[in-house]
This record gives sequence, C-alpha cells and structure tokens, in this order.
Amino acid sequence: MLYEKQRREIIETARTMEKYGLVRMSGGNVSLRIGDLVLVTPTAMGYDTMVPEDIVVTDLKGNIIEGIRKPTSDLKAVLYILNHMPEVCAVIHTHQPKATALSLVADRLPLISTTLIDEVKDEVAVAPFTISSDEGMGRMTVEYAGNALCVILKNHGIMAYGKTLEQALSAAVYLEESCDVYLSALASGREISVLTKEQAEQEAAPRGYYGQ
Ligand SMILES: [Zn+2]
Repeated sequence: MLYEKQRREIIETARTMEKYGLVRMSGGNVSLRIGDLVLVTPTAMGYDTMVPEDIVVTDLKGNIIEGIRKPTSDLKAVLYILNHMPEVCAVIHTHQPKATALSLVADRLPLISTTLIDEVKDEVAVAPFTISSDEGMGRMTVEYAGNALCVILKNHGIMAYGKTLEQALSAAVYLEESCDVYLSALASGREISVLTKEQAEQEAAPRGYYGQ
C-alpha cells in the first residue's frame, strides 16, 4: 500500500475536523498531494471507522492509481485547486456551521482578530454559490483565495488549504472560531471594530516567540 503514514495523517485530520464540529457524519473531505499523486478520503464514509485502506490514491487528472473505494465526490474541485495553486499540498473541505452561517449574511469575514491573521493569514472572502460535487467549487476557491488559507463557499461550507495538513486544519478551525466571534458581534447590532491595516501588519510581522 502506498503512503500508509500519510493515509493515517489524513484520517487523523478528518477526525479532528469532526471533533471540532466542522463536519458531521461523512461530510467534507481531506486531500493531500504527494508529488504527482493525490491521496483523498472516500465518498460517503464516516471518519471514526475509516482505515488507511479506505483512502484513495489518484493522479492529478483523477485517474485512480490505488484504492478499493470511490473517492470524494468533490474530487474535481480538489484537483482544480491542486492544479492551479502549486504551493498548496493539503486541501480540506468542511460544512462548518459558523462560517456557513456567515456566508448567508456577509460577503467576507474581515480582519477581526489576531488569531485570524496568525492562522488564516488574511480576511476571508465568501465566494458566490456553486453546486456541490462540481469543479466550480475549486474554481471559486482559486478565484477568491487572495492571501488567505480559506475561502467560504456561499450556502455550502469552506475550503481550507496549505502546505501541510496541519496548516489547512488549523486555518479551518480558527476560521470557525473567528466566524463565531464575528457573528456574535454582528448580532449585537453595534458597530464592529475591524483591525486597521497597520495593526494587521504589526500582528503579521515575524516575532518568533510562538510555538515549540
Ligand atoms: Zn460540501
């Protein structure tokens, strides 16, 4: 079996998504590019019982290289992202409720917290609606990514991406936290305090104090 270690990391990432309430049941998917190959979660399978053999290996055109399962129904969208964002290796799709709720009432998540700058890198755009299981989700992600590690898909969920699974997962989790904060503030009906460009640049500047 190809890439057993990475298959286990994909399953662990998917279980962490579920732990933080970003997906339920078999919702969402996780993908990892390794060279010219892509490891993806299977469609319509829960993550708690998923085993390394369930992960599907495809090439960048979607041809199955190894696997006994059908790949995620969003494979075309994932491949579009990987083929158009060469710096990205990991892609996570979730239906996380706070970000999806925000997509119903706003066209972006502005820079409202230090966490958003540190973990998602920029404000996050809400891309126009596209149907699920379609390449359009990938096209919208590439078009609306900007400098951020996430795009919110209107009336659907989010795409998070990065160099590693850890980076993409962290972006998805902290996007959800920031959307929660923003929605709470919006509900107050009072003016929202958004970080200035200068504050955002100060926060983003490397300081080297954080992390093990
Ligand atoms: Zn979806």
